[in-house]
Amino acid sequence: MSTPHYETLPPSDAVTLGERAQRLISSLATLTDEPGRITRHYLSPAHRRATDLVGDWMRAAGLAVSLDALGTVRGRQEARRAGPSSGKRLLIGSHIDTVTDGGAYDGNFGVVAGILAVDELRRRRVSLPFGIEVLAFGDEEGVRFPTTLASSSAVAGAFNPAFLDRRDAAGVSLREALVAFGCDPDAIPDAACDPDEILGYLEVHIEQGPVLEHEKLPLGVVTSIAGQSRFKGIVLGEAGHAGTAPMNLRRDALAAAAEIMGEIERIARAGRDDSLVATVGQLAVTPGAVNVIPARVDFSLDIRAASDAPRLAAIAEIRARAREIGERRHVAFLLEGYHESPTTPCAPQLQAAFAAGIDALGQRVLRLTSGAGHDGHAIHHLTGVGMLFVRCRRGISHNPLEFAEPADMGLAVEALIGAILALARDEDGERS
Ligand SMILES: [Zn+2]
Repeated sequence: MSTPHYETLPPSDAVTLGERAQRLISSLATLTDEPGRITRHYLSPAHRRATDLVGDWMRAAGLAVSLDALGTVRGRQEARRAGPSSGKRLLIGSHIDTVTDGGAYDGNFGVVAGILAVDELRRRRVSLPFGIEVLAFGDEEGVRFPTTLASSSAVAGAFNPAFLDRRDAAGVSLREALVAFGCDPDAIPDAACDPDEILGYLEVHIEQGPVLEHEKLPLGVVTSIAGQSRFKGIVLGEAGHAGTAPMNLRRDALAAAAEIMGEIERIARAGRDDSLVATVGQLAVTPGAVNVIPARVDFSLDIRAASDAPRLAAIAEIRARAREIGERRHVAFLLEGYHESPTTPCAPQLQAAFAAGIDALGQRVLRLTSGAGHDGHAIHHLTGVGMLFVRCRRGISHNPLEFAEPADMGLAVEALIGAILALARDEDGERS
């Protein structure tokens, strides 16, 4: 039975858990609004079917299931024994909506991992000193409505009521879509958790980046969810004839924008902070003709970092350099911010719990930042957040090629179980 590579194989329970995770993810992946692709937008028919399926799985794992006012599936179990934290519960969640033509693992694996961990703890007859609530959020991707994290912000008691009047591309308001889904928008305040009853929030998620694969590690502990700033940039020059205007008399908006973009990249790479990233992803040139000097350029700018200080310093430097370039080239420059979310640091106790879970599997504990946003960003308003990342192939996400190895997913469920047990030990330790 022995194999020379036994030490690289995960524990047998992890193998089984990984295979179960893959089966559940494959069933969820069949629920789509577009045949042949995985597209499951918030409050769509496919989301409705996914909600029912996840509810069935939660019930089978022994959880009491409800659907809240924002369409979050919530499966709850009470503490199995009396103690100071028996009135509290640990939240475990992620999302079951997807982007258009997305992957099967983003969000969905986190929900599956929560359900499998609860089921496995029951099978192992573990009695926890606190309750657990597994949450399957519906609006993480923000694809259908111009909203951000509507479902998790309601759980956190931080829902923005203005979201209810926002409309999708077909003109349906969020309020109308919720009612059609079977939810009651007037009950949104009831979706909010009482902070005094919550122990913390854990989320397992595919990394959506290449770091774990590069480090040859299946799992990593997230230290923070990166803060994010988004801007619309505008450069205003003057149109002119491409043949008759000499180079020294031009006010070329695109040449100025190109120089500004070069500076943006240089500033992000200057070594201020390894996690600092800046991206210009959209560019529109006006009038956009082959024989006309560009009069105007509109571009997008997205800046993220693991902490706020390097991000804010980079923004200030970009503004200053762009102003200098504009003055020298006689073009006007505007940088208008439209989205600003501060860094969400992960709670040290929850990071330690996930680290203990990874360590118990004999794996090296790597800590890394999440460059992508997550539901934890909203839940941070309610309670401490802990995140576990799972290696995904080539770091690909938001794409049908998204893939995580079942063996890695099994280890992730085991690490989640280990984290829950570490928190139970913390609670028991406080009592004695
Ligand atoms: Zn996600």
